Amino acid sequence: MPSDLVIVYHRQPYEEVEVDGRIELRENKSPNGIVPTLKSFFGSVEHGAWIAWKQANDPSSPDFEQVIDITDDYGSYSVSRLPLSPKQVREFYHVTSKEAFWPILHGFRERYNYDPVDWPNFREVNWRFAEAAAAEAAENAVVWVHDYNLWLVAGYLRKLRPDVRIAFFHHTPFPSADMFNVLPWRKEIVESLVQCDVVGFHIPRYAANFVSVARSLLDVDVIRREQVGNDMIFEGTALTERSLPTLLRCEGREVAVSVAPVGVDVDYIAQCASDPDTLRRAGSIRTDLGESRLILSVGRTDYTKGGVEQLDSFERVLENNRDLHGKVRLMHVSVTANRNMSVYAQIQNDIEAAAGRINGRFGTLEWQPVALITRPIPFTDLIAYYLAADIAWITPLADGMNLVAKEFVATRNDGDGVLVLSEFAGAAVEMGSAVIANPFSYRSMDEAIVTALGMPEKERRQRMEILRRAVARRDIKAWGAQLKDEFKALRGYAERNITNAA
Ligand code: UDP
Repeated sequence: MPSDLVIVYHRQPYEEVEVDGRIELRENKSPNGIVPTLKSFFGSVEHGAWIAWKQANDPSSPDFEQVIDITDDYGSYSVSRLPLSPKQVREFYHVTSKEAFWPILHGFRERYNYDPVDWPNFREVNWRFAEAAAAEAAENAVVWVHDYNLWLVAGYLRKLRPDVRIAFFHHTPFPSADMFNVLPWRKEIVESLVQCDVVGFHIPRYAANFVSVARSLLDVDVIRREQVGNDMIFEGTALTERSLPTLLRCEGREVAVSVAPVGVDVDYIAQCASDPDTLRRAGSIRTDLGESRLILSVGRTDYTKGGVEQLDSFERVLENNRDLHGKVRLMHVSVTANRNMSVYAQIQNDIEAAAGRINGRFGTLEWQPVALITRPIPFTDLIAYYLAADIAWITPLADGMNLVAKEFVATRNDGDGVLVLSEFAGAAVEMGSAVIANPFSYRSMDEAIVTALGMPEKERRQRMEILRRAVARRDIKAWGAQLKDEFKALRGYAERNITNAA
């Protein structure tokens, strides 16, 4: 059955669990991710489709059905699983996306690895996503493509289906032309993206960067510029942008540029945070801490998350503030990423070495300053730690948004707690009332955590109140509602584009 909305997202919209030798499909364990929000869009169309990949040893005859139909609380939709060989997955996802694109998107030119990229494979995988989307889309359907590993889908799809409306959302940062243009495939990528009807980003800076990249490579006219709303301007933070182009004309088409910062499920988190079990857990964590204050840091083991830089800062702070010894503990959660990737193995070694060094230098039998956790903590347990913590210390070197910062704030029904946040996390443009830190500056990092530790209760509460309002204003429901409105508005651009092309 043709679909009015096709979501193209590399992951499947459920977890596959093997039970008695059979695969069962289950809802994702954490209802707090983006997937439930994306699925909720199927509720507003008669039939939807989702395109993802699934590994197959022999993609020409996979041992699973390629298209399955699902009817659940979200609606009725099909899921196309593109069979990719382990080699295709490795090269498309782990090499091209993670070793070439990821460092450039986050501004780490020196980590960019060109040599192993198999560009024809990347093209082929994207082509197959585009073909699958074209096969599912009803006439004039909206096809919503997600993230940089599917950059070429838009251009291919436009060739296959000139009638569909294409929306693209980036979940990562988008760098300026000086950085993006390190990619030798830059023009091919941007030529694909300008075939969209709307290209979306978390924050105005990334959107403005995209426009600067497009203008460096193609003839682009800016036909509308808009001021950024006050709720996304925080004087002095690195990622604040005051105005941005929102409508472009390029190659005879109109392309809208949109900003929609993803949020968290504030209601769900507030409910978890007031659950008696969670409160008990938080209480017992506090009891175990005794007089010590808890600083909590949560992220994936990735050089973009600045784990080593943060531990180095903690070491300097302990060195320079003997009065903190025995009185403060850092719980540093750095969830191990893909072990097969050498870059992540190295960063994990560095984090383990730094944590071991700090405990060795300053620890005693009774007091270990750093608790390093490298396994993932289930979301509901994490909420108990958010509640028990005095400070959330979130200092990525670059981060598209950072949901941990928003989750911490959404958890704090008690109105207390301090957020120390890197000005290079996308979330910082909405969360300027946090203690803002620059992770590239020793002084800024060290002062921020010392300030947070010494902050009087009244100031903590004032800042938390403003942060809670900001997080509630742009929660995940608001994100979904904004995008639904944008899809309605798409009709206008798409119709003009179709007429212009004819
Ligand atoms: N998370 C989790 N357990 C952990 C560490 C992280 O459930 O041990 C979740 C966290 O609650 C958040 C997500 O993983 O929802 C991380 O999102 P974020 O935007 O902060 O970072 P990303 O990993 O997407 O770059």
